[in-house]
Amino acid sequence: VASKLRTFGVGQGDIVGGHMERTARLVATLLGIWRSGAAYLPLDPEAPSARLAQILEGAEARAVITEERLRGRLPPGSDPVLLADWGFPASFENTDSGDGRAGSPVPQSLAYVMYTSGSTGHPKGVEVSHLSVRNLLESVRHVIGFRPDDCLLAVSTYSFDISVLEFFLPLLCGGRIVLGSNEQVKHAPALLSLLSQTNPTVMQATPSMWRLLRDAGWQGHPQLRIISGGEELTPELASWLIRRCGAVFNGYGPTEATIYSSFHEVTGEPDGRIPIGRPLSNTSLLVLAGKQQLAPPGVPGELYIGGAGVALGYRGRPDLTRDRFLLNPLRRGGDRLYRTGDRVAWRKDGSLDFLGRVDNQVQVRGHRVEPGEVEAALEGIREVARAAVVAKDMGEGDLRLVAYVVFEPGSSLTGTDIRRALRALLPEYMMPGIIEPLGRMPLTSSGKVDRRALPDPLRRAPAKRDDFLPPETSQEVMLADVWQQLLRISKVGKTDNFFDLGGHSLLTMRVVAKIERLTGFRMDSRVMFFQNLEQIAATLPPPVAAGGMPGA
Ligand code: ADP
Repeated sequence: VASKLRTFGVGQGDIVGGHMERTARLVATLLGIWRSGAAYLPLDPEAPSARLAQILEGAEARAVITEERLRGRLPPGSDPVLLADWGFPASFENTDSGDGRAGSPVPQSLAYVMYTSGSTGHPKGVEVSHLSVRNLLESVRHVIGFRPDDCLLAVSTYSFDISVLEFFLPLLCGGRIVLGSNEQVKHAPALLSLLSQTNPTVMQATPSMWRLLRDAGWQGHPQLRIISGGEELTPELASWLIRRCGAVFNGYGPTEATIYSSFHEVTGEPDGRIPIGRPLSNTSLLVLAGKQQLAPPGVPGELYIGGAGVALGYRGRPDLTRDRFLLNPLRRGGDRLYRTGDRVAWRKDGSLDFLGRVDNQVQVRGHRVEPGEVEAALEGIREVARAAVVAKDMGEGDLRLVAYVVFEPGSSLTGTDIRRALRALLPEYMMPGIIEPLGRMPLTSSGKVDRRALPDPLRRAPAKRDDFLPPETSQEVMLADVWQQLLRISKVGKTDNFFDLGGHSLLTMRVVAKIERLTGFRMDSRVMFFQNLEQIAATLPPPVAAGGMPGA
C-alpha cells in the first residue's frame, strides 16, 4: 500500500481517504497509509455520497483508496483513486530501513482525521497525531490489562474514533482481532452467533449496542471484559453487564482528546450514577467553574482536558480550533486544553461524574449530533422555511431526534419527502425520528428558537392521513402493535414503512426480538428497509398467544 501511495507522490503530511468494506484488508490498508507517512481519513461507504463529498473537500485528501464494488459510491471528483485489490502475502517482510527515509511517521505527525458533527451545518475534522494514539493505546492496554492471548471483537464503524482502539490495540499487544463484517455488526442475530463462535475476551461498544445484544437474548460471558463508551452508561445497564461479564469499564472522552480521556471500572452492584472515572495516563482533567477556577469536589463545572491526547485542531478551521482549543491559563495540566462542553463534578474519591452538556449537542446511539447541523440540512430543503431539532429521550437510553418544521406557504411536502431528502445528506444516526410540522416557530425575545416552548410531539394528536389503511390480519395487527410500541406512535397502517415512520436500524433488532417472542419465528430485519407492513406481515406466522411463546 505504502509503495503504491508513494507512486502518487503521497508522503508525510498528506491525507488519504479509506473507503472500504470492514475486512482485514481495511486494517492492513490503514497501516499501509501510515507506513507511507500519510494520515487516514475514514470514508464510511454507508454514508451518503453528498456527505463524503463534503468531508473529502474539507480534508483536502491527496488520494482515496477504495474497492471495485464500492467505487460507484464515491462522489465524483475524488481523484486519484487507488483500488485495494491486493492480496495478502503469506508473510510480510519489513523493507523499512529504519532510518526514516521510507516515510514512516514521526510521533508528532498526523495519524487520522475523524469527522464529527458540527453545529454550523458542516461536519468538522479532528486532527489526531500518532503520539496521541500511542498514548491512548498504551494507557488502555494498562488499564484493562490487554494481553497477547486476548482476542478483541471489533464492531464499531471506522468513521467513529473508538474503532481506532479496536483495530490497533490488539496489534500493538500481539493479540488477535475478530473483525465483524458490516452485515454482522448491524444484525443482532448475526452478531450473537459471531460472539458465540469466536469467544472474544475483550469487546468495546456503545451502551445502545449492549442493550441491543441484551434484548436479542445475549447472556454475556464470564471471560469477556467489556468497554462501554461514547455515551452515558446507566446504572441498570451496568448492573446487567457486571452480573454477566468478567469486567466492565465505562470509557469517557471526546474525539478531540483522542478516543478516551478517562476510565472507570464498575465493580459490584452500582448504587446510583456510574462515574466516568479517573484520567488515563498523561492526561489531565480540569473542572472549571465560575471565572475559570478549579471546582472543588461536588461543585459542577465544565471539563477541560489537557495532556498527550489533545488533538492538533480542526482540519482547515483555525476559527473553530481557536474557539475550543485554548492555551492553559493555569500552571498545571499541560500547555493546551480542549474545552469539552461537558458538565462534570469531582467525587470525593477522585473520580468524575458526568452531569450533561452545557450546549445542545447530544449523543444518539453513541454518535455525536449537533442539532444545528440537522437544522441546516432541513433548511436547505426547498419549501422548508425554518427548522428546529431537539433530542427526546424515549426511555431506556433511546434518544430520538425531533425535527420541528415550518413550511413555506403552499408547500405540499410530507414527512416522508423530508426524510428522503435528508437521507441523501446525513448519516442514519442524524435522521430525525419524528417530524412535526409547526404553523410558526416559537421565538425568544432575542429572535432565537425558544426550545422550551416547542410542543411535546408525543402528546399531540396524530396528523390526519387520507391514505391510511388500518391493519387487518392477525399478523398485521401484531406487527403494527409492535411498531407502535417501539416508535411511540399511535397509528400504523398497512402501507407504512418502518423507516419512513422514524425507525432506525438498531430498533429493527428490537422488532425482530419481539416478533420472535410472540410467534417463535425469527424474521429477517432487513425486510423492514424496503417493504411495508402488509408485505412483511404476509411472511409471518400468526401470534401464538397473547402472553408469547409457551416457556419463552
Ligand atoms: P468518542 O470520542 O467516544 O467517539 P464523541 O467525540 O462522538 O465520542 O462524543 C464525545 C461526547 O460524548 C462527550 O463530550 C460526552 O458528551 C459524550 N460521552 C462520551 N462518552 C461518555 C460516557 N462514558 N458517559 C457520558 N457521556 C459520554
